[in-house]
Amino acid sequence: MSKVLIIGAGGVGGVVAHKCAMVPDVFSEILLASRTLRRCEVIQSQIREMHGRDIQIAQVDADNVAQTVALLRSYEPNLVINVALPYQDLPLMDACLEAGIDYLDTANYEPPDVAKFEYKWQWAYQERYEKAGLMALLGSGFDPGVTNVFCAYAQQDLFDEIHSIDILDCNAGNHGHAFATNFNPEINIREITQPGRYWEDGAWREIAPMSVDMTFDFPEVGPRKAFLIYHEELESLVRNIRGLRRIRFWMTFGEEYLTHLRVLQNVGMTRIDPVEFQGQQIVPIQFLKALLPDPASLAENYTGKTSIGCLIDGVKDGKLRKVFIYNVCDHAECYREVRAQAVSYTTGVPAVVGAMMMLTGKWRGKGVFNMEQLDPHPFLEALAKHGLPWHIIEL
Ligand code: NDP
Repeated sequence: MSKVLIIGAGGVGGVVAHKCAMVPDVFSEILLASRTLRRCEVIQSQIREMHGRDIQIAQVDADNVAQTVALLRSYEPNLVINVALPYQDLPLMDACLEAGIDYLDTANYEPPDVAKFEYKWQWAYQERYEKAGLMALLGSGFDPGVTNVFCAYAQQDLFDEIHSIDILDCNAGNHGHAFATNFNPEINIREITQPGRYWEDGAWREIAPMSVDMTFDFPEVGPRKAFLIYHEELESLVRNIRGLRRIRFWMTFGEEYLTHLRVLQNVGMTRIDPVEFQGQQIVPIQFLKALLPDPASLAENYTGKTSIGCLIDGVKDGKLRKVFIYNVCDHAECYREVRAQAVSYTTGVPAVVGAMMMLTGKWRGKGVFNMEQLDPHPFLEALAKHGLPWHIIEL
């Protein structure tokens, strides 16, 4: 029995709140807090209608450490689940340290003025969390998150030596809009317009954005073109998977999406620096976010599936082995269950499972942890039980 504070009432926050409400024996009390109270109210009434449970809600600006600390002191949760934006990671980690509360998130910190996501800022909290006897679990979404756990499981159970890992992320869904992003547009566009980067033979290698692609036959979806991009879990997996020679991340994008993105970039709409407009400073990507559909609003009419997994090769018992460990998730089924689309669902469910691991003592530790540093077995068992069954194909 435990109290949890969820911060962020967007697409992912909605899934986390619904799913926590569906597991009352672990999450006996739930508070959903976000910048805009109205969004919390909508989720609160959905949960009452669909699952017959009452959750509490509150307004909070998570950039304001003192405000969050006051909320933590009055509510006294056992854990904070941060599903606001990556910009809030550090203020929320500070607030948790000050109030003595464990912390979990799904995406690593990014400074608002530089599109650069790295773990260094959050890893720097290791000593302070350790000294305070607190645990911070980083990147408990799907990728990062489940993909890290798939790699840990492969290292423990499937291979004696892992040589290469390719993480492959396909959303073969259709939301009916000419252009929309499946999670926060600002964070999503910042991520994919950066140079691609992968790790091979002990060094990082950089390529121009979207300049390398391959076609992969995704389970339950079929062949799709995937592009090599940089993704945050590569940084921790390089540290934690022994003997690795190469690791890359691939994501599929449709032609329509890429054409829109190219035009938006060419006209300057994806810029993250302020520009002067009619006597005001505006950041073009923030203006673009205001024009694009809210990712949570895509859910109702979304069809198709996501298919995401890890292609891993290496050696087992002296023989070469290659496996694909993956999950397939259906957008329409997610909507029926928790009024969300599959990208929010595949992020929110692992956040809830990570929280269950911490709150039930299956994952405990003092300091800052990436997912692959913890025992994959209880996590994978709970993941399948709570909505994301996973499979292994031997290749
Ligand atoms: P949304 O933009 O839909 O939701 C973000 C929510 O956070 C909004 O409700 C927003 O409030 C709230 N918020 C923003 N700033 C603050 C603040 N200062 N204080 C309090 N609340 C704030 O994003 P998503 O739900 O799509 O994504 C949530 C997180 O999940 C992101 O960090 C994203 O990077 C991560 N993610 C991780 C994935 C993974 O697999 N690991 C995949 C997809 C997403 P408001 O309503 O006022 O705007």
